[in-house]
Amino acid sequence: MSDYVTVAHDGGIAIITLDNPPVNALSHHLRQPLFAAIEAARDDDAVQGLVIACAGRTFVSGADISEFGTDRAMASPSLPQLCALLETLRKPTVAAIHGTALGGGLELALSCHYRVADKGARVGLPEVKLGILPGAGGTVRLPRVAGPEKAVKMIVSGSPVGAAEALSSGIVDEIAESELTAAAVAFARRKVAEGGPHLPVRERNGKLEAARADPAAFEAAVKQATAKTRGLEAPLACAQAVRNAVELSFDDALARERELFVQLVSGVQSRAQRHLFFAEREAAKVAGVGKDVAARPVKKVGIIGAGTMGGGIAMAFANGGFPVTVLEANEEALDRGFATIEKNYAISVERGSLSPEDKAARLSRFSRTTDYADLADADLIIEAVFEEMSVKKDVFGKLDKVAKAGAILATNTSYLDVNEIASFTSRPQDVVGLHFFSPANVMKLLEIVRGDKTAPDVLATVLGVARKIAKVPVVVGVCHGFVGNRMLGARGDDLEPLLLEGASPEQIDKVFTGFGFPMGPFAMWDLAGLDIGWRTRKALGKTAVIADALCEEGRFGQKTGKGMYLYESGSRTPRPDPQVARLIEDKARELGIERRAISDQEIVERTLYPMVNEGARILEEGIAARPSDIDIVWVNGYGFPVGKGGPMFWADIEGLKTIVERLDHWRAKTGKAVFEPAASLRRLAETGGSFSARPA
Ligand code: NAD
Repeated sequence: MSDYVTVAHDGGIAIITLDNPPVNALSHHLRQPLFAAIEAARDDDAVQGLVIACAGRTFVSGADISEFGTDRAMASPSLPQLCALLETLRKPTVAAIHGTALGGGLELALSCHYRVADKGARVGLPEVKLGILPGAGGTVRLPRVAGPEKAVKMIVSGSPVGAAEALSSGIVDEIAESELTAAAVAFARRKVAEGGPHLPVRERNGKLEAARADPAAFEAAVKQATAKTRGLEAPLACAQAVRNAVELSFDDALARERELFVQLVSGVQSRAQRHLFFAEREAAKVAGVGKDVAARPVKKVGIIGAGTMGGGIAMAFANGGFPVTVLEANEEALDRGFATIEKNYAISVERGSLSPEDKAARLSRFSRTTDYADLADADLIIEAVFEEMSVKKDVFGKLDKVAKAGAILATNTSYLDVNEIASFTSRPQDVVGLHFFSPANVMKLLEIVRGDKTAPDVLATVLGVARKIAKVPVVVGVCHGFVGNRMLGARGDDLEPLLLEGASPEQIDKVFTGFGFPMGPFAMWDLAGLDIGWRTRKALGKTAVIADALCEEGRFGQKTGKGMYLYESGSRTPRPDPQVARLIEDKARELGIERRAISDQEIVERTLYPMVNEGARILEEGIAARPSDIDIVWVNGYGFPVGKGGPMFWADIEGLKTIVERLDHWRAKTGKAVFEPAASLRRLAETGGSFSARPA
């Protein structure tokens, strides 16, 4: 008995209850008394069967990740030792699962003979999301109950399954019709009555033999599961571990699983992924917004503008269950916007990711209007109209007149000054930036832009709402482009000179995709439309040598079939265009630039190093609260590779000293301000510091 583990007896059944709030993680202080309780039940002749249940809102939701990388992680009894002990019991053992049995939680449950689940329970092995694999027998036991094909799918994706699917695939044995613990006790009693032997999962080979007989089917499942791993090692290791379970003996496969686990857990990718896991939680901590700040209720949402962003934002809210009223300038614009929304849902239904009923339910949450009076009862109104201050002024002036007291007024502006926008109202404390990313119904990032006067409870509210619509929120300060676009600007500042000096668009893009970005900067220009930047440059009196010349020829990117690349009709695949190569050479000649071979390393130094440098400036100015917030922005909004942990985490790995040396080099060579190392970056480099070591 301990604070974390209690044992009760019901007839001949011992009920071991784990209580380690909030999620019953398998910390060492829980494992110790649990091990002792299992041994005691094993040795007590009065105990005929055993139930392992959990107090609180869930079964064991995983290992204690704060133990990773510390001695406590494998301190005896380790989770593998606990699992091994459970499997030696001759008396029937039953896991009673409610809430979620994830990671180590499911591995513990799989070491019992049987599993009884609540009907709302979910089970899974999400370790891959932290860059590791289940390291306590999950890859060896799950295939034995669910079959290797199902197991490889679950372990490589890390996605949990619901109770019904767990039952049909053999992961659980029964869904409780009555109170869970009572049902599990009754189940154990039945098994006692039926008599043994009770076969531990390790000895169940039926489903493996089917896969051994038809390896092609299993390999097809592996291929499908690992189709999109984007340079991550963990998904491949997960698949290999399940393959080992099929091909090797239980003990050999288990030993291999441990080796793979140890390899992954000490690797950079897993460190990066765990960094991101904690970074996301850390980002929820916002200065001046403590637990005592109550959120305002948000029941109804208004969206102004049904263009690219307004439509996507409206979908994100409807998908999250919110009623949404969409306001546009006129009926035609509304028709256009809703046609796109309908089409997007129809595509999801076609692909099988949305049921026709869900589509209908989501569409039923929308209302449309051209009358501001219809927004009078909205609790949160988000503006996504043209990116022009005069238009924003008009919209916020009108909103100020109709919105109810306490309504939150948000702008989706990408670059404009949120403080100025707030000044167009009589209630700047209620105004905030909500910067979504395109496509807004898909992209996870939400930059929450805190204005000088934004009230703490407004921030608390939008942080909560963001999570309800499955976004990853990061609070940032006001500046041109906020965190993400400002760093994107720094990353792109030297792209044209690189082209003129000798690199090709495809070489540069390849460096980025090789780094792990889903696409390079030029493919991205073509996707977004070159005309957007052209228009902005013209408004600001700026020019770009190559991009302007392309636009003058009507080459706007994918939408015109050509831009930096060529696109065959209907295709989104960029093909190098000799005309663009010639254009670049001509422009270089005109400017007297002698072209030379540019190395891939030089491309990294002239794009990604300035981006890190801008991140350091953003931190100096307090626009981002901590380096990890910047990492969250870049991983969730700009495709920065997860396995590299975000730009600031990556910078530490790359070495701040190297980065500063090379920035100095390029500053001297080009004279460009973007290469001038930020004072804080130079200081960190000189003192051997790092971003991750900075106090949060
Ligand atoms: P868009 O041109 O696709 O849509 C703008 C919509 O606003 C149009 O449908 C237009 O009819 C409507 N509109 C214009 N003035 C209006 C008014 N006075 N009242 C009501 N409706 C009006 O533009 P977009 O790409 O959706 O961008 C909208 C905003 O979102 C901009 O501030 C932009 O900077 C920002 N943003 C865009 C992206 C992106 O990738 N496109 C990403 C993040 C933020």
